[in-house]
Amino acid sequence: MDSAEVLAALGADLPPDALIVDRDITRSLSHDEAEWAPVGEPLALVRATSSDHVAAAVRVCARFGIPVTARGAGTGLSGGANAIDGGVIIALDRLDRILKIDPLERFAVVQPGVINDELRATAAEQSLWYPPDPASSPWSTIGGNIATNAGGVCCVKYGVTKDYVLALEVVTGTGELVRLGRMTAKGVAGYDLVGLMVGSEGTLGIITEATVRLKPLPAAPRTVVGYFSSIVDAGEAARAVARAGIIPSALELVDRHCLAAVDKWRNMGLSVEADVVLLGRIDDPGEIGDDRADQMLACFEAGGATWAARSSDEEEAEALFAARRLAYPALERLGPVLTEDVCVPIAAVPDMLARIEEIAKRHDILIASLAHIGDGNLHPLLIAEPGDTAARDRAKIAFEEILTAALDLGGTVTGEHGVGLLKRGGLSRELSPAVLEMHRAVKAALDPHHILNPGKIF
Ligand SMILES: Cc1cc2nc3c(=O)[nH]c(=O)nc-3n(C[C@H](O)[C@H](O)[C@H](O)COP(=O)(O)OP(=O)(O)OC[C@H]3O[C@@H](n4cnc5c(N)ncnc54)[C@H](O)[C@@H]3O)c2cc1C
Repeated sequence: MDSAEVLAALGADLPPDALIVDRDITRSLSHDEAEWAPVGEPLALVRATSSDHVAAAVRVCARFGIPVTARGAGTGLSGGANAIDGGVIIALDRLDRILKIDPLERFAVVQPGVINDELRATAAEQSLWYPPDPASSPWSTIGGNIATNAGGVCCVKYGVTKDYVLALEVVTGTGELVRLGRMTAKGVAGYDLVGLMVGSEGTLGIITEATVRLKPLPAAPRTVVGYFSSIVDAGEAARAVARAGIIPSALELVDRHCLAAVDKWRNMGLSVEADVVLLGRIDDPGEIGDDRADQMLACFEAGGATWAARSSDEEEAEALFAARRLAYPALERLGPVLTEDVCVPIAAVPDMLARIEEIAKRHDILIASLAHIGDGNLHPLLIAEPGDTAARDRAKIAFEEILTAALDLGGTVTGEHGVGLLKRGGLSRELSPAVLEMHRAVKAALDPHHILNPGKIF
């Protein structure tokens, strides 16, 4: 196959400004935030401004057998959006319009490049709420969130992205434009192909429009903050919250490495003198909410908090949540970060945290910790000084050992970031050969030319 021929075919079917071959631009948009994942050299970038552009580009790629990688905002943490050598990247960031907010049916119709926070802000103007809130919500796109089945801070109570996707417009691996799902509150006609697309990381189709459920805005939350001198104690407290039957609207863990990195970067005046902080939120209204917040406080104290309180200052509480959201980019400034994303049953959280500590010590690796701890989704962040190749090698071994520990405890290798390139080995350990074969069969049916993000996931 001749690259010039492919480019000519793409150029014939796309407007001139949609096809980009300038190496500086293609390279800058050829990777996500997973610094440790390999990146290929793309042949071209298609910056689509319509579903038809996406379909036309995929048809050309299918004809020539060229790999296609969809890209949202590139905030992924698994290498899913990384370019494949000689492939075409289809960037969806210019498909960025909110097409409809329907307050009666409570849904929004959006193009895939809409930024999560923009949808949330627009829905809020009509007292509506789009719950899935990855910490990347100021940057990541709805298309990327759907393709990774993104989780987030409020998912412990409100579920993950898949719980909100009603219908999709998708370009298949043959370049056909299809509509999946429906706009009604219920519907079971046919296989759940929307569910199959959610979390498929660009390997089964390219999402060009999405209809997502909205909810009424929740009541203002109460925040409970707890300081702990050990991460395992904080895990015990989180488990105690679940045992008490409390369903918080957020239960996040952030350690002192993360807080110090944020303070250094943004100078937020975070004067937290604790090794680990738990941030809990309760959004049940009225007296019930007050009672549950008190119960959560009691669980923090019973779990060994050195200090815990219901926050009386919502601004201060919001600053701590903001610090939690900024922790990842803040740590990235200190050196390449290898992000883990294991998820374990809530009963196993303290044990898993203890194993991560032991692994860090044994391999002499700095592991900072963030977690959506309320649902057992832990983000140990392995950091190597820039240029320290020995530390990098030790971190890679520690990364695999953390996956093994999570699987031993009945967990999964990825709770929300996806498999991409970094977790392919982990996935093959988690799934049986028969189940991996089912994955291959599904891919072959929807992507018969094997061009949609090949080599990602499995
Ligand atoms: C600071 C920070 C915080 C984060 N916090 C969270 C968090 O709390 N929860 C969480 O789940 N993740 C989190 N992430 C990871 C990341 O933001 C999510 O995976 C997000 O959903 C990716 O969206 P994106 O638009 O950046 O997609 P990209 O990174 O561009 O792409 C992600 C994957 O989706 C595919 N894709 C993108 N758009 C489409 C489309 N239209 N059709 C088909 N496939 C597509 C890509 O090929 C790739 O496989 C965080 C990342 C950062 C940097």
